[in-house]
Amino acid sequence: MKVHFHGTAAFEGIPSLFCHCETCKQAKVLGGKNIRTRTSVLIDEVLKIDFPADTLHHSIRDSVDMDKVRDLLFTHSHSDHLYPEDLLIRALGYAQFNEEEELHLYGHDLPIKHCSQLLATERHRFQFHNLKPFETVQTQTATITPLLANHDSKETCLLYYIEKDGKKIFYGHDSGWFPEQTWTWLKGKKLDLAILECTTGNAPHCEVHMNVEDTLKTREWLVENHVMQAEGRIVVTHFSHNAHLLHEDLVHIFEPNGITVAFDGMQLDI
Ligand SMILES: [Zn+2]
Ligand SMILES: [Zn+2]
Ligand SMILES: [Zn+2]
Repeated sequence: MKVHFHGTAAFEGIPSLFCHCETCKQAKVLGGKNIRTRTSVLIDEVLKIDFPADTLHHSIRDSVDMDKVRDLLFTHSHSDHLYPEDLLIRALGYAQFNEEEELHLYGHDLPIKHCSQLLATERHRFQFHNLKPFETVQTQTATITPLLANHDSKETCLLYYIEKDGKKIFYGHDSGWFPEQTWTWLKGKKLDLAILECTTGNAPHCEVHMNVEDTLKTREWLVENHVMQAEGRIVVTHFSHNAHLLHEDLVHIFEPNGITVAFDGMQLDI
């Protein structure tokens, strides 16, 4: 299975629009893995998680054929994860297809409401699926179970457990320390890949995102509870410039703990 990290930054990107902090200045000078766009992951070219405004940039940068994507999963409606206006580019009169197939969209109430309102006249090109936490669904490309995140009290934010071609992935952000129901659900699972966040770096613990300590504690929990397969990998992503950690700093923190630091364009074979 191929897991392609399209973007690895939190909301503001790195270097961030309008920002003159030292991290943004250094990222501009150093370039390479220090340049981060808003988060999204593509699995086997057909299953995509989240749809930020940087998707056009991702498709050009990495030569991605977005029309191969059959299933699009939304974690929540924050604009670094969902920019529904760009789905209109797939509408009649904007995109030309060889074979017209529906793109299936999956998420909780708010993202699906935004998309179905915006794409109301394009129902022949999209199908909408309203998910409920902990209810497993068979999509066109995988079996998915939405889990509860701890991220925004104004909406139900989801994490995903994805089973595809015998592999099992946990997509674990955006979230602070997970709700008890999610920890309980994960017990007894065997993951090939866990994708975690570390938005806030060395900042003190906060409720809605993870800092370094929370990410390391999550890894510890996954390992101690034997939730990771022997060859299973843990990857960390979704970094804010306000964490003031360059790629090299993150590698220094996480790699000795067996965690891979994602960068834009990174591809894993699992
Ligand atoms: Zn985010
Ligand atoms: Zn900055
Ligand atoms: Zn968010």
